[in-house]
Amino acid sequence: MASARHLAKQKFVEFLQRNRLRVTAQRRAIIESAFETEEHFTAEQLLQWSRRRDKTVSRATVYRTLPLLTGSGLVREIDLGGDSKIYDPNYAQHPHHSHIICRECNAIFEFDSKEIKKLAQEICRKMGFAVMSHRLQVVGSCNQLKRLGICPRKKL
Ligand SMILES: [Zn+2]
Ligand SMILES: [Zn+2]
Repeated sequence: MASARHLAKQKFVEFLQRNRLRVTAQRRAIIESAFETEEHFTAEQLLQWSRRRDKTVSRATVYRTLPLLTGSGLVREIDLGGDSKIYDPNYAQHPHHSHIICRECNAIFEFDSKEIKKLAQEICRKMGFAVMSHRLQVVGSCNQLKRLGICPRKKL
């Protein structure tokens, strides 16, 4: 696992170099933070983690680096509607994984399903397509929301 992460990080650095973008110390702190976690993160979380490594990392640099991360294909953006965007660093290792997301607190759980993969392949084949990727996002109520009617984890 650690090596796959390391590889993704290395690929991203190569991506920057290919696009003639400099790997500054600030950017390095952001890259380390983004690829060291298996958690899905928000831009603000990434900013906090990066600042722990390098206090000089600015919000602007994080917001400028995020489109590069997603543009490289190594981090994926999960759109939750509204303003909330969550970034997922786990696609390099599990390109087909799906998500269950709580509609209140945005808690995210990942799952992989052979059945879903097979289904996508069958449907594609019938329509003369070849599968390249697929995303499935199930929105639901987390345990806490179901039990308590609120999510203690909910921010804002
Ligand atoms: Zn994920
Ligand atoms: Zn919840």
